[in-house]
Amino acid sequence: MEKVFVKIGLWIGILMVVMLLPLKADAAQPTGNEGQLEESVVWREISDQAGLLGMESDPEGNYILTDDIDMAGVDWFPFSFRGKLKGNGFSILNLTVVDAGEEIRETYDGNMKVYDTYFGGLFDTLEGGWVSDLQLVNLRVKVETDHPCFLGGIAGYMENSSIENCSVQGCLELRAHDRMFGVGGMIGYGCGSILETTADVTLVCIDTDAATRDEQFMGGVCAAGYPDIKGCSVQIAGYDSDHGYVHDGGLVGMYMFYPKGTKYRGTITDNRVTGKITFFEDNKNRRAYCNGFIGEIMNWDFENGRNKDEFVRDEVFQYDTDLLPHSCDAPVMREEVTAPGCEFGFTTYVCETCGYRETDHYTLKNHDYVWTVLREATEEAEGERQGVCKDCGVQTVEAIPKVIPEPEETESAGELAEPGQITQDGAEAWNSFGAGEDGTAQSTALAEEKKIWTAPEIGRGATLGIAILVAIVALAIVWCIGHQKKR
Ligand SMILES: [Zn+2]
Ligand SMILES: [Zn+2]
Repeated sequence: MEKVFVKIGLWIGILMVVMLLPLKADAAQPTGNEGQLEESVVWREISDQAGLLGMESDPEGNYILTDDIDMAGVDWFPFSFRGKLKGNGFSILNLTVVDAGEEIRETYDGNMKVYDTYFGGLFDTLEGGWVSDLQLVNLRVKVETDHPCFLGGIAGYMENSSIENCSVQGCLELRAHDRMFGVGGMIGYGCGSILETTADVTLVCIDTDAATRDEQFMGGVCAAGYPDIKGCSVQIAGYDSDHGYVHDGGLVGMYMFYPKGTKYRGTITDNRVTGKITFFEDNKNRRAYCNGFIGEIMNWDFENGRNKDEFVRDEVFQYDTDLLPHSCDAPVMREEVTAPGCEFGFTTYVCETCGYRETDHYTLKNHDYVWTVLREATEEAEGERQGVCKDCGVQTVEAIPKVIPEPEETESAGELAEPGQITQDGAEAWNSFGAGEDGTAQSTALAEEKKIWTAPEIGRGATLGIAILVAIVALAIVWCIGHQKKR
């Protein structure tokens, strides 16, 4: 008798697997938005990590962010970009750059000597490109290299490009020793236009070799070059350890034209700098350029007006210890987590010994939406609902998935289950989502699901329901038998 039950259980199990297989295959088919985008679409939408990473495959494309993106957990390798990127007011959180890119460009020092140089940032090179309305929140760039190298929040190298109405907040750190290197809040080296952009940055530049006299650069906007800078705002905390020649500026480390013989009238107007650069210049032939505006001005042919700074030039004369934001002997760190709401969440790390504090590990906003249905979903068409945040009033509109209709009753379905009930419950469950605290995340997950459960697949939906019920019964039988045997 037991054997018979076991056999029945096994057959039902096999039957269930056979029924589920085609469903699983179908579920794998729907792709994200990327798959549906056509070549003719001008702006490609980016709303997640994969979309951002995908830009590298078409660096001349036009892209627009449609959501904030948390890049935590991804090691970002900078690539060359020549297209357009509209941040659309959205933020990229926790972008972590772990190395310079592969592109090499020539850079010039103050004596017009040329160096093959590497670059790091969101992009390594930005040429013929345009970046606007983009916010980098908690950018983390940390590069150690044996080559000449420049780091910049948005691009290590810029030429013939424009950065408008962006913001960079985070920390950039470079350790290098080969003749020519530096760190800038927005760009490392180059030229182009930087408008109405803000930087709230900690910049660290360390010469890892005391033997050679290097040219070293640091600027809240740009380490070296001749970008036009208008209406920008910089909050800088700089740490520059230099066994060579230092060029540090609240805006630009060294303002210079290149190549030799080039003429260009630049513009640096309506900018504001606050903060401090702590540095040493370990060099007998000292110059120690460090100013709130520009470290060293090599060319004076530029419009200069209405720039303000509250800047502290902090030179130290001990050369055997690298300068770092936090350098106390016995750090004891305490964590304070700030939960996300209408603003991003983050963790504050406070040193109980010296009082140093920094923020890290930002988390996406979590608005408390109240939802109003603008258009009910039907079997034929998606609906639409609007969310208004109770606390800050921010609004969002999102689709309501199509209603999954009741399938026609079949004989096998009759007794075992009512498939209609399953779809009904599904719809109700969906409607109750979103009213909760993390409505956005849940409805996004459901929006993903709806790709699988579209109207033509109702039959399969019913089949799945039946299959699950049958599976439960089969497992129960097998379990009962097993249990009895043990007794
Ligand atoms: Zn809000
Ligand atoms: Zn400390």
